[in-house]
Amino acid sequence: MSHRKVEWRAQAGRSRATARSQASQSQEEWLENKFEKELAVSDSIYTLSDMETNQAIQKIERKIQAIKAKLLELGPMRPGSVSAQYNVCGKPGCRCKDPQTPRRHGPYYQLNYVYQGKKKSQFIRRENLKQVRQELATYKKFRQLTDQWIGLALQAAQLSLKSPLKPSP
Ligand SMILES: [Zn+2]
Repeated sequence: MSHRKVEWRAQAGRSRATARSQASQSQEEWLENKFEKELAVSDSIYTLSDMETNQAIQKIERKIQAIKAKLLELGPMRPGSVSAQYNVCGKPGCRCKDPQTPRRHGPYYQLNYVYQGKKKSQFIRRENLKQVRQELATYKKFRQLTDQWIGLALQAAQLSLKSPLKPSP
């Protein structure tokens, strides 16, 4: 219980330095009491009121709505990355094996991605390269936005929990 309170306090941006230095002590009971005293003080200062909590959640909800709007605007996408490759062939006397100035064949553009745990790879024609790169960029944007959504969702979910900080009546 007290551990959870300490976690909360850290999330709220308060220093855990005191808690850390005490955690090195061996007398756990003494520690427990010390925590309770300290937190009783910090609780009264830092606990959000229900109104403040609702406002904070609403603010987060608005941010999530903005993210959803951006997601709706995303065009075609695909995961992965493109790399350029240069090859050596088997043709005798080919320029790719020139002893003086070998010029290998390429670039060949290869798209690599993982989907459902399986690695996939395919070559991309030069004329499709621009489109594929655009799709890759859109996918990155998609991931950024969903990551932000998850972060905000976690904050909102945490705030909506009945506060563990409030002392029992
Ligand atoms: Zn060759």
